[in-house]
Amino acid sequence: MHLEENISLAHHTTFRAGGRARFFAVAESEDDLRDIISYARKKNIPFFVLGGGSNVLFGDRGFPGLVIKMNIRGIAYGKEKGGITAVSAGAGEHWDNFVGGTVARGFYGLENLSFIPGSVGAAPVQNIGAYGAEAGDVIVEVSTLNTETLEIEIFSKEACMFSYRDSFFKSPAGGKYIITRVVFGLSSKGSVNISYRDVKDYFEERRNDSPALSDVRDAVIAIRTRKLPDVREVGTAGSFFKNPVVSVYDIEKLKEKHPDVKFFPHGDAVKISAGWLLDHVGGFRGYREGNVGAYKNQALVIVNESGASASEILAFAERMQKIIYEKTGITLEPEVKIVE
Ligand SMILES: Cc1cc2nc3c(=O)[nH]c(=O)nc-3n(C[C@H](O)[C@H](O)[C@H](O)COP(=O)(O)OP(=O)(O)OC[C@H]3O[C@@H](n4cnc5c(N)ncnc54)[C@H](O)[C@@H]3O)c2cc1C
Repeated sequence: MHLEENISLAHHTTFRAGGRARFFAVAESEDDLRDIISYARKKNIPFFVLGGGSNVLFGDRGFPGLVIKMNIRGIAYGKEKGGITAVSAGAGEHWDNFVGGTVARGFYGLENLSFIPGSVGAAPVQNIGAYGAEAGDVIVEVSTLNTETLEIEIFSKEACMFSYRDSFFKSPAGGKYIITRVVFGLSSKGSVNISYRDVKDYFEERRNDSPALSDVRDAVIAIRTRKLPDVREVGTAGSFFKNPVVSVYDIEKLKEKHPDVKFFPHGDAVKISAGWLLDHVGGFRGYREGNVGAYKNQALVIVNESGASASEILAFAERMQKIIYEKTGITLEPEVKIVE
């Protein structure tokens, strides 16, 4: 086990903010993980698992324990059974490289989730989703290391309890499991899903009414590139808040004041576009305060314009929450994991 000390977390997160980790170690295997966890236990310090750092904001005081950078690799394609091929990927694999590989081999299921930053192991944690698809739709099982027993435990799709940007792994009981490997069930005879507005518009503009699998990946990459900042250039963790889910009654009330409010059906309730609220109710799109701002093309995306501290980012986010609450009574819940 190679242990480093006093490592800048700004260098390991796409927000490029936050303090230092007291200890930092990279896990290349399940045995590495066992050694690292045993060390943290012996020292009686907390640990935190980090993938690509694209959905986390550490506070300026940093992390007082051991940050474990997940780097378990390996991708394996199984044999087709009943039209479905099990594709297994190590938690440390780069998500979009993995997705690109499945599309290049002609497998349907992950193309709408192209170009999301981060690692494979984080995908089940918040059940990543975009353009009408969610990782949980095609996850078959998730391998984990139970950090109390140091044994491997496998979770079926049902046991993962996937829901909107949520899963068992985000619950207090799920916190003791580190994801080591994820198995996806993909099909080589699937069909593309272009029902989501932006994707549909993209193909309508090009007069393409039967896009191929790789066209959908290209479309999603093009749309995301236009709408979202490039993490190589600006600090961000993407959407800072989840889309709030409210009752049909609440949306009717809101429509009295904001008839254009953008929302989508969500079971018996509705999901309101947090980006719409921040843009049209809060007036945040493109607004900047010091080193922090809301992205010019999407108010939901907070950007670290130049060397912002985590406290500045959090103060900006709190201001957004306060204004939206005062104007609509809706509480915006962070999607980004805040570690203070
Ligand atoms: C520009 C941009 C666009 C984005 N767009 C989207 C989008 O469209 N849809 C979407 O859903 N998300 C989006 N995100 C958020 C982010 O990309 C995803 O949440 C992604 O899955 C995070 O992966 P990561 O490896 O960077 O996780 P990290 O940020 O490193 O970790 C996130 C959380 O998962 C936990 N975790 C990470 N790995 C493991 C593991 N192996 N086992 C257990 N827990 C683990 C961490 O402890 C932490 O709590 C976007 C982010 C950015 C910066």
